[in-house]
Amino acid sequence: MAQDSPPTAHNQTLLLPCHECDLVCEVDLRQESGWLQCPRCRHPLMRQAQSDQLTPALAFTALILLGLSLLFPYIGFEKNGIERAMTVTDAAWELAVYHHPSLAVIVIATIIVIPALYLLSICWIHLSLSARRHLPGSLLLARWLPRMQPWMMADVFAIAALVSLVKIVAMAHIQLLSAFWTFSGYALLLLITVTRMNTVSLWQRLLGNLQQPAATRSGLTARSQGLIGCQRCGQLQTLGSHHCHRCHSSLHDRHPLTLQRVWALLITAILCCFPAHLFPIMTTTSLGQNEPSTIIAGVMLFIRHGDWPIALIIFTASVLVPFGKILALGWLCIASRRRDTLDMKNQMALYRITEWVGRWSMIDVFVVAIIVALFQMGNILTVTPGVGGVAFSAVVIFTMLAAHQFDPRLIWDQQQKLPPNTQPEHQP
Ligand SMILES: [Zn+2]
Ligand SMILES: [Zn+2]
Repeated sequence: MAQDSPPTAHNQTLLLPCHECDLVCEVDLRQESGWLQCPRCRHPLMRQAQSDQLTPALAFTALILLGLSLLFPYIGFEKNGIERAMTVTDAAWELAVYHHPSLAVIVIATIIVIPALYLLSICWIHLSLSARRHLPGSLLLARWLPRMQPWMMADVFAIAALVSLVKIVAMAHIQLLSAFWTFSGYALLLLITVTRMNTVSLWQRLLGNLQQPAATRSGLTARSQGLIGCQRCGQLQTLGSHHCHRCHSSLHDRHPLTLQRVWALLITAILCCFPAHLFPIMTTTSLGQNEPSTIIAGVMLFIRHGDWPIALIIFTASVLVPFGKILALGWLCIASRRRDTLDMKNQMALYRITEWVGRWSMIDVFVVAIIVALFQMGNILTVTPGVGGVAFSAVVIFTMLAAHQFDPRLIWDQQQKLPPNTQPEHQP
């Protein structure tokens, strides 16, 4: 187990491969606290910190807030003398009741189960660091942290709740109950915890400094030196190795089938777009009359009511982002095989935006989940989920999987010459 003490004089620099462009960078551990960026693609390499007590404290507080959010009601409303309150778990439960268990599992996994496992893992790993020994499972959890990260959507759910309120405020008297505030606090702390996490720094503290293979040079790509960098802990090792000898994560050089896999996932997402937009995402039943609503019909309804900002949010998240993502990833697959397209930095910007915005498309699915949970008033007003929501969730999941499958190092493999400056840049 590595200690939190500063590095000694003989190991004050590290050679670290950039995960996104494969450049081997020389990192000076004596620099003040803050993020060190790759000089070529600006990917954050590692965060310098002598010790980190704040991240586990944030994670623990977020867990307490999540626990409170599950105990108390989330949103309440009153219509025609009938009062009703929903809890966070009702948003998933009612979907399961209406024969959409897959949607219920997606909602409960992305807003509660995966984030809770992530936060518990951080607490357990830091307990391990404090105890100065590897507690059972701590290394396994450290390997799983980056895999959980893209699938945590508590912040998307919190924004979806605000969108839902705008949608229903004209129909009923709304009350924000205690779990609304604790859940918002949990979503915010989860977001801050994620932005503070850096797996290279974490493994550095768990296992000590990286071993540098002999004759490794900074300023060249790992691949050009017959090496491969571990995406989790940053250890450089011989090309052809399948598992990192330091953290035991699987190693991936550019897989020959990467682009084919991305294309297959994109085509599946395109096929799911048809039922997602043709079938209703929800059906409103009022006094015996059914009114199915597709995604586009929902946007038009907001426009008719004059709620332009909300119409714009839903249209962007549900139409522009999924289609834009499919086009952007398709373009990147084509561009990564050609040298005369966009320059590398623009391609990287496109890739990072595509990866970042993907999960925000789930807003509309969460809005439906919240409205279904609230409007269960028998003959007066009942909202049921539609098959369009299931298909739309599939679009979001397949485009997210395609973005994760795409290897950004393919973009940089086209570049022959490297810039003279290969020192990581410091960002406080
Ligand atoms: Zn880079
Ligand atoms: Zn590793």
